[in-house]
Amino acid sequence: MLTADQYLESLRRINFNVYMFGRKVGGIVDHPMIRPSINAVVKSYELADDPQYADLLTADSGLTGKKINRFTHLHQSTDDLIRKVKMQRLLGQKTAACFQRCVGMDAINAVDSVTFELERDLGIEYHRRFRRFLLHVQENDLVVEGAMTDPRGDRSLRPSKQVDPDLYLRVVRKTADGIVIRGAKAHQTGALSAHEILVMPTLTMNEEETDYAVCFAVPSGSEGVTYIYGRQSSDTRKLEDGVIDAGNCRYGGHECLVVFDDLFVPWERVFMCGEYRYTGPLVERFAGYHRQSYGGCKVGVGDVLIGAAALAADYNGAAGASHIKDKLIEMVHLNETLFACGIACSSQGGSTASGTYLIDLLLANVCKQNVTRFPYEIARLAEDIAGGLMVTLPSEQDYRHPVIGKYIEKYLKGTAEIPTEHRMRVLRLIENLTIGAAAVGYRTESMHGAGSPQAQRIMIGRQADLSQKKKLARVIAGIEEESSS
Ligand code: SF4
Ligand code: FE
Repeated sequence: MLTADQYLESLRRINFNVYMFGRKVGGIVDHPMIRPSINAVVKSYELADDPQYADLLTADSGLTGKKINRFTHLHQSTDDLIRKVKMQRLLGQKTAACFQRCVGMDAINAVDSVTFELERDLGIEYHRRFRRFLLHVQENDLVVEGAMTDPRGDRSLRPSKQVDPDLYLRVVRKTADGIVIRGAKAHQTGALSAHEILVMPTLTMNEEETDYAVCFAVPSGSEGVTYIYGRQSSDTRKLEDGVIDAGNCRYGGHECLVVFDDLFVPWERVFMCGEYRYTGPLVERFAGYHRQSYGGCKVGVGDVLIGAAALAADYNGAAGASHIKDKLIEMVHLNETLFACGIACSSQGGSTASGTYLIDLLLANVCKQNVTRFPYEIARLAEDIAGGLMVTLPSEQDYRHPVIGKYIEKYLKGTAEIPTEHRMRVLRLIENLTIGAAAVGYRTESMHGAGSPQAQRIMIGRQADLSQKKKLARVIAGIEEESSS
């Protein structure tokens, strides 16, 4: 496994073609806007190196038996699925940000079982190729960016009917050596923290859409790949002097629009090419794993937000008020309900044909449906407890100013024994998590990440087995005998 320093060095060797604020940027590892998100991924290496977290952060590879980072692991049991969620909660607690590495973990697990079935049914060596790729990932402890979401243009039109056919990523040419890809992937979490990109189709394709039924992996920074950095609310605070106003001084997340402009992919790295019938299971399983993931990461970030709200109450001298205590209890109740869903869909999982374990899809979708709601309520309660000062607070530069700093120190003090700076720090953290840069990961991503709410409702409808429930009701109502099936 890599050390944190080795990870940083390995990233420095990748030649990313990145644009931000209309300029090409280099040196991404040390770029002040990007570095906090890289720090969050570094945590996945540091904790794997720490014996007290080894049971969560590491696993024995199902491929080699060697000890590997869990983020590169194929889940071998329901216990593995549960440990995954606990690992994500831990990392959420330690970073209060999106630590990005889960998308690749969810992608490798989904691609593994689907390519196994593809090779078993059609005899094409997709699964053997994928396993060789995965061995490379495990042996070198790499970060994989899982890339699913296409831009999708006019949502009323199928991929092949779009005015611009590139709005869904597609194969534009096949050669004896490989395939040529054109298109883009949007909202790519951790694109600049990753060594490899694993691309999957964005939805279930049909027989007219075989060019869009493609799955492959390429190294980050490959010729033909361009990264356009996504803005976040208050993001330029990371460029300011001082650390208070950023809210979270060390960690963050990032997303990019990743453009594939006639990218060549050798056959050895192609894991699906035209077999559209397998796109549905791939999308469903990847989405299911990532919906499970939110029952871990959002809960860990929620722990920090609840802690920050409780501190704000202490610093305001309001902690004794019964309505504050009740609001904190409500926040904990909501947060733990999400965790319960993450654990439930893991414990009820089962093996796929490849031996890789899959979560219970109905419960994973219920988990994510709750995630589209509860973090909003937790954030609302945190804002309620924090008070309006979290959005009217002067800057750190004013606080440090030789003339006016003393006014801030004097008039923005809460309880006498707490330094004003501590109050400022905790309010900025709540701002960061609820409406600032980290709100991407805690709020809007809770809504749209791993699929928007309607996507889960479709899956819940599909998995609900209403006919079986109707039968239960017929028996109880005396319409049907229990014995008849
Ligand atoms: Fe991991 Fe959560 Fe970020 Fe997804 S949103 S990559 S599950 S931390
Ligand atoms: Fe996500």
